[in-house]
This record gives sequence, C-alpha cells and structure tokens, in this order.
Amino acid sequence: MTAAVKPAQAAIPSVGRLLNREPLPTLAGRHGHALVRDCAREELAALRRQLAAGGAAPTVEAIAAAVAERLAAALGPSLRPVLNLTGTILHTNLGRAPLPEAAIAAIAQAARGNVNLEYDIDSGRRGDRDAHLEGWLCRLTGAEAATVVNNNAAAVLLILNTLALRRRVAVSRGELIEIGGAFRMPDIMARAGCRLVEVGTTNRTHLKDFRQAVEDGAALIMKVHTSNYVVQGFTASAPEADLAELAHAHELDFVVDLGSGTLVDLKPFGLPHEPTVAETLGHGADLVCFSGDKLLGGPQAGIIVGKRALVERLKRNPMKRAMRPGKLTIAALGAILPLYANPERLTETVPTLRLLARPEAEIRTLAERLRPQLAARLADVATVETVACRSEIGSGALPTEALASAGLALRPLSSKRSGAALRRLSQAFRRLPVPVLGRQRDEALIFDLRALEDETALLGQLDRLTLS
Ligand SMILES: *Cc1c(COP(=O)(O)O)cnc(C)c1O
Repeated sequence: MTAAVKPAQAAIPSVGRLLNREPLPTLAGRHGHALVRDCAREELAALRRQLAAGGAAPTVEAIAAAVAERLAAALGPSLRPVLNLTGTILHTNLGRAPLPEAAIAAIAQAARGNVNLEYDIDSGRRGDRDAHLEGWLCRLTGAEAATVVNNNAAAVLLILNTLALRRRVAVSRGELIEIGGAFRMPDIMARAGCRLVEVGTTNRTHLKDFRQAVEDGAALIMKVHTSNYVVQGFTASAPEADLAELAHAHELDFVVDLGSGTLVDLKPFGLPHEPTVAETLGHGADLVCFSGDKLLGGPQAGIIVGKRALVERLKRNPMKRAMRPGKLTIAALGAILPLYANPERLTETVPTLRLLARPEAEIRTLAERLRPQLAARLADVATVETVACRSEIGSGALPTEALASAGLALRPLSSKRSGAALRRLSQAFRRLPVPVLGRQRDEALIFDLRALEDETALLGQLDRLTLS
C-alpha cells in the first residue's frame, strides 16, 4: 500500500502531528481543541485535493499557519458592517434603518443585565412588556392602545388570525401585494386561516365593490399600502373614511396595513407626503400596523395601534406569544419614540430621516471632494466622475419618489470585456475590510453618497484595495 502513495501525498502530516505544531496548541487552548482539529482536517482535505491536481506540498509550518487562518475566519463574525452606497437607504438585505445613538445606548444597557421587562417595580408584581411603549405610541398616534410584535408581517398575521379566523377578509385586487418575495398578501391570508375575498379590479376598486363583499359575508375590511408599486392612469380606490363607515355600519372592523408607516408628516423634510399613522386612525381605521425599521428609523418590529378592545384580543391570541419582541427591541423603540416628541430635531436625532432629508447640494459637495482621491487610487484601472443620481427610500416606502442625489461613477479603462472588468472592480470594493457596496448601471459602478456620513470609512481603506 505504501508503495502506491505518491511522494507529495506522503509529505502531508497526520492531523495529530499537525496539531502539535505551534501556534495550533496555543489556539486550541484558547478556542477549544475540537474547533482547531476541525479546521486542521478541512485544511488537510483541501491540501490533498490541491496535491491531486498537481500542486507542491507545503511545509508543516505553512500548513499550521493556513489552519490558523481558517480558524480566524471561522471565529470572525458572519454579520459584518458594510458601506451602503447602493442608493437604497432602507435596504432590507443590508439591515434597513441605522439606529439613533439613543437607541444604541439603550440596547447596550438592556443587554448587559436584568431589566423590568415584565415586572412592575411599584407593585412588585408581574407587568406587561407592551407597557414600556404603549404610552408613547398612543401619544404619538392618538390611538387608544398599542402592542408590538417582531415585524410588520407578524403584525398582519396576528391581526388577521385574531379578527377573521375561518372568515372572509375583503381586500382590493389593486392591493394584493408581494413584498420582497416572501410576503404575499394572499399567502399570509391563507396561513392566518382567513379566506381572501378579492374586491374590484386591479386598477379600480369602488366603495360599491366593498359593499357587495360585505353583503356576501366578509367579516373584515382590510386596506394594504401598496408599498412597492403604484397603480397609475385610470384608477380608483375607495377612500379610507368610506371603508370605515361601511365596516362600522355592519359592525365589522376596518384595518390598515400601512407598511412603512410614518409618525410625522414628511413634507417638512422635503419628502413627498405619506399618510401618517394618526391620519389613518383619524379616517376611522380600527387597527393600523406598520414596521419599526422603515420610515420610523428603528429596530425590526411590527407596531399595532388602535381600539383598545381589539388590541386586547390580539394580546390574548396564543400566537402573540410566538411573536413578542425581546428586551433589546423594546429598549430601542423606547429610546426612539420620545425623539418624535420633537419633530423639528428629527433630522439630527434619527439617522434614517437625516439621510432621507440630506440636501442634494451637500451630497454633491461630498462627491466632488472625494473624487480626486478615488481617481488617484484607481488611476490605471478606472475613471472616476461625479454624477447626478437618484436615491430610493427603499423597503417599499414611497416607491416612485426618487430623491435627487449625487455620487461617483467608476468606469473600467479596459475597453474589451468591460463587463468582466466592472465585475472585478465591484469585487475589489466588496473585499475591503468594510465592504463598499454600490450599484452597477450603464457599464459603471455607481456609489451614491447619500448614506455616506463618515467619509474616512471609505477613504481610510482605499490603500487596502486589491486591483488586478
Ligand atoms: C414592508 C411591509 C410589510 C412587511 O413588513 P416587515 O416589517 O418587513 O415584516 C407588510 N406590509 C406592507 C404594506 C409593507 O410595506
């Protein structure tokens, strides 16, 4: 058998011998023997494949160093900071809203020890985790009561399952939305145990269509914010106040999934008007739900506000237990909501609103300042130009309203195979210690600078770029 072993294969050490070679014994003491052994096995397996393909055998020292590298990669966090220069501010794949400092501090404090999450300090009795947020939510929206779950999809599921289990729910055909692939209103309805009654047509739905649905036995009327698309042209929809009136005339409830849900009018920030939660309640909605990490600028959460009797029913649904947020989410929301008491300062206190309201001229000045440094670094590889571009709010908020912005367009110099050159350029930026993510358009890599507040985060790592 030994005679058949090729010389290179023979040079591969056993796992045991490899593990005796520094720094591996030290690392095993620090990070656990089993983990280091697994990394050693993986490295040896990779090496065998390499040698079978005709490579040369490295020294045992070099193999031990490669195992140490593997270990470092395995121990590093999977969740890493990235620079979002895609131009989509609330990017679901990139973790949506950057949190206010007050929220970050509150999370750290709650994380460190015990808190009165469900404990009433005055009476010494068991408390309610919603109590930390309900007062603020009611004050800011004018609602009677409020509760919070893990995200807005959960909020929709809980509302439907609580108010319309095995019953019919009337929704306009123009609002049967899909958000980010996995959230499709018809599927959520089915999982909530409700029967969807499609009302009207894709472009036009009238009050009389809803009246018909109610006469045919609908038990709940629901309106869904068409977050990520608009129906344009020959369109009609029933006003919320009319839907509320119709529902109440039949002793039914009218609920609104607002999606982004803003607590304040966005006009003063130079953004188009979005119906606020308070306005929607004012139109007669019995429950309104919205996300915590969209326009609100907070942590992932689903917020439900409205009639006390309905909120109480939601809280009694056993499903609520499976959807309740943890102390970190409650701490963060508890720090953000008070910031909304002073709308004038929101662009200072809430990063999401600051980024969305950031003036185009300021972003252009930043682009002009950064351009020469990027151009110098990329001299032989790509041209760098300042360009006008349009940012998106993202996460389905105000889908068609692009915000005038500015950025840098990087164009590879090599004329042939420009697609491949562009991919290499994007990859080089993605491989930085803090990956820089842009958007590819018109054979250029575009960095929209709206979300770049700390320019050293970009400039400080330019010398680490590996350009081929
Ligand atoms: C975003 C959105 C949801 C889902 O909210 P998540 O907080 O992402 O779970 C539901 N409905 C509408 C209308 C939305 O825009």
